[in-house]
Amino acid sequence: MEPFSKEANRGVLLEDAACDPFAAQILLPAHLVDQHLDAKGPSASAITLLWETSNVSRMAVCVRAVQRLPAPGHVLLLDPVGHLAFAASHCLPPRRPGSFQGDIPVIDRALAGPGRVQGRTQVRYRDGILGRELHTDTAPMDGYIVAILVTDSAPWRAFTPPTTDTGPRSRGYICANCDENYRSFESALSNPPARAAASLTAPNAAAAPARPAPLAVPAPAASSSTRP
Ligand SMILES: [Zn+2]
Repeated sequence: MEPFSKEANRGVLLEDAACDPFAAQILLPAHLVDQHLDAKGPSASAITLLWETSNVSRMAVCVRAVQRLPAPGHVLLLDPVGHLAFAASHCLPPRRPGSFQGDIPVIDRALAGPGRVQGRTQVRYRDGILGRELHTDTAPMDGYIVAILVTDSAPWRAFTPPTTDTGPRSRGYICANCDENYRSFESALSNPPARAAASLTAPNAAAAPARPAPLAVPAPAASSSTRP
């Protein structure tokens, strides 16, 4: 069930690459990424193709893909049942690995069919709360589903108006991918995922303290005010 269980060698690489954009950049250099992800940004099938032609984990490919998103969004890796195996986010509250997303629109159809679906969906946060509606593109990835979700500028569409940002905007947060500040009511829900991500990457950070901050560790709400 693990994204790397069949690939022992890839699994070793995964440990560093999964949540660490610095490692992913070394494992997947820009010229290789450029061959598959065009200037408009990644589509789901392009991510699968990049993975198939490289020698890195699914997660490392997802980390590289989220760096190319043209708008706020997520790159999600879902297991065959619909649980989130991995998520990389850009300027939206990060999603928690393990959460069930198998019954939300688009993802449900991707899991039920060959895996290639486009449409709009809302990812589920804890307590069943749904996030902002996002343009979504999915593709199969050898038993898994990779999904790209963006607020606008979907690379697989000629024109994509922004989806409505529902709900009040209450607090500002720092994107773990690009360090931009963003505001979102959803971020109030990101504390448990942030702790989960921090525990995942803690050994990594301890082993290499000089590295840039791992991708999957958002600024905790309690400490964000102390950031410079
Ligand atoms: Zn960002």
